[in-house]
Amino acid sequence: MIPRHSASTIEEMKPAGAFVASVLSELSRAATPGVSLVELDALAHDMIRAAGATSCYVDYHPSFGGSPFGKVLCTSVNDAALHGLPHEYSLVTGDLLSLDFAVSLNGWVADSALTVNVGGVASPDDQRLIDTCEKALAAGIAQARPGNRLGDISAAIGAISRGAGYEVNTDFGGHGVGRTMHEDPSIPNDGREGTGPKLKAGMVFAIEPWLMHTTSEIYTDADGWTLKSVDGSRSAHVEHTVAITESGPLVLTQRG
Ligand code: MG
Repeated sequence: MIPRHSASTIEEMKPAGAFVASVLSELSRAATPGVSLVELDALAHDMIRAAGATSCYVDYHPSFGGSPFGKVLCTSVNDAALHGLPHEYSLVTGDLLSLDFAVSLNGWVADSALTVNVGGVASPDDQRLIDTCEKALAAGIAQARPGNRLGDISAAIGAISRGAGYEVNTDFGGHGVGRTMHEDPSIPNDGREGTGPKLKAGMVFAIEPWLMHTTSEIYTDADGWTLKSVDGSRSAHVEHTVAITESGPLVLTQRG
């Protein structure tokens, strides 16, 4: 059963989305050469405290995690694709950094991610990877409207990704968002259009394509959390929390 929320509840979700967007904007500006991943996490932690928000990550301990996450930000660098545990690593020019951030504010969760080139230097291959993720996200969001099927979102993401020549991992993808970070449904990053539950106004989804250059397979790093590409190729990941409204998708985590 996919939860549905009233229009007034979606209004109540907006501050969480705006806050997550503002933190990611701030962190992407702060992610410069010489800054460490734990410093970025600490900055995010300060902003959470100042806003009176609650991290969705710090106590998160699902079956696939080695221990409670313990940090408030996922920092996935280069061959790290998802769930990157912040370490004492200092960023260098040319790093490909994904930041994934989710909090609860006023009782509602927002979840969003972006990928940046540290130092503003992107190889053409890395830029293409990011651009493809962004296009896949936009295509998935465009399908998030009443009357469509859940599979239309997955199919749109998969078509852009595969069309650009990338393989797609369907083990980790998007999800419903509400009082908690992970709710029904699960939204794989590939699928068949016209299949799955019908989309209705009031559903709220985190849509999150992620890609690696030359593989779709990952393994878990020795830290128990960070998921890395099996062949060492780099990864990008972008995500928005999106409410389905009668008039179409409303991106709650849109950055200014
Ligand atoms: Mg996320």
